[in-house]
Amino acid sequence: MAAAVTLTPSASEGAAPSDDVLIELKGVSKEYASGTNLVRAMRDVSMTIKRGEFVAIVGTSGSGKSTMMNILGCLDRPTRGTYTLAGIPSGERINDARALIRNRLIGFIFQGFNLLPRTTALENVELPLQYRGIGARTRRKRALAALESVALGDRVHHTPNQLSGGQQQRVAIARALVTDPPLLLADEPTGNLDTRTSLEVLALLQRLNRDRGITIVLVTHEQDIASCASRVITMRDGRIVTDIVQDKPLDAAAELAALPPPNDHVAAHADAEIDPVEAAKQRIGGKVPFSVYVMMFVGSLIGLAVAAMYNAFVLGQSIAWITWLGMALGEAWFASRRGRKKLGRPLTTDQKARVAIWYTVGVTVALGAILALLTVAGAGGFLYAAAAPLSHLTSRAPLAVGVFVAVLAALSLQRYLFLSLLSPRR
Ligand code: ADP
Ligand code: MG
Repeated sequence: MAAAVTLTPSASEGAAPSDDVLIELKGVSKEYASGTNLVRAMRDVSMTIKRGEFVAIVGTSGSGKSTMMNILGCLDRPTRGTYTLAGIPSGERINDARALIRNRLIGFIFQGFNLLPRTTALENVELPLQYRGIGARTRRKRALAALESVALGDRVHHTPNQLSGGQQQRVAIARALVTDPPLLLADEPTGNLDTRTSLEVLALLQRLNRDRGITIVLVTHEQDIASCASRVITMRDGRIVTDIVQDKPLDAAAELAALPPPNDHVAAHADAEIDPVEAAKQRIGGKVPFSVYVMMFVGSLIGLAVAAMYNAFVLGQSIAWITWLGMALGEAWFASRRGRKKLGRPLTTDQKARVAIWYTVGVTVALGAILALLTVAGAGGFLYAAAAPLSHLTSRAPLAVGVFVAVLAALSLQRYLFLSLLSPRR
């Protein structure tokens, strides 16, 4: 196994580079045989990257950016030239040794996140530690800490398909970080993300770079992303054409703060963060304010008065259904407008049904109480006379109860229909 390989530079391997140099490429070329053609993906590239730098590699498609990243990440070896990482010449090493360097020194972040599906965020982040043979308890502790450092402490048991793109990339960053590597390599880490989410990921990378001194090399084709780096290397046809230090890189967190606020509705859906219980509550609507019932009663009196005046002055006679219609319209109009004023939005379907039923029950109970009082007050004779047509029901109590309930139901339904009809739309 590769355990025998030491990660300290040996004296025999030439002059040790100065301490703060992390990456050193000397005359690196990479050639691919493509059929009869030879593709020269990197041509004689020499450069150094110091610890703590934040380097963006830019260039058109096919200019050799990914090839460079594969070499920096020890995923591939140069055709010619040498690559030294943290003082360790990696080019000539056997594959196992390069795997070890990769595992110890480098965290990878990819455009497509490359998380294991159907595997929780926590397990995804634990994976590199598992490869290193670290015990379950320590693994869990470090994975949790890494997820917390990318602000995902509350999503550790989510699987990738339950997370938004930005959150998945943050899980991938936590996975890259969990082994505490001095170097993070990211090939188009924001290529699949929208502007806001890209800036969030970038702000996170800048923080890791600043606070923990992690060296970051990232490939991007977006100018805004490159502006956030402390150094921009431009490639063309396998060569470095410009290499510019940016003294005042853009602060992604500040850029983020300056963005217009997200459209909550869209963002909530994109993030799939709506709690189904919360959504159901919203659909049903909360308690109906008592003043809605009060205004319903006031509305019924106003509707009654208007209808009575219409009967008296316009028609010259009293038509019962017009009186009834006036009451019903008055109730519904005033109650629904009061509801919207108090709740800030129209009554929900559920709230309308509740208002209709409880108002009907309330009015019936109130009427019953008034009638009972009148009876006690000695107006019994009047009551009996009024109830005479119903007297045959007294011998059939179940039928009486049935009729009573049916009338209540019909009145509730009528009120619900009028509330729906007259309720403001928004
Ligand atoms: P970039 O990432 O900047 O778009 P790449 O580094 O992927 O560019 O590719 C540089 C050049 O090398 C391209 O012309 C590409 O077609 C070629 N290339 C990359 N990988 C291979 C490969 N495995 N085999 C053959 N050609 C390759
Ligand atoms: Mg590429």
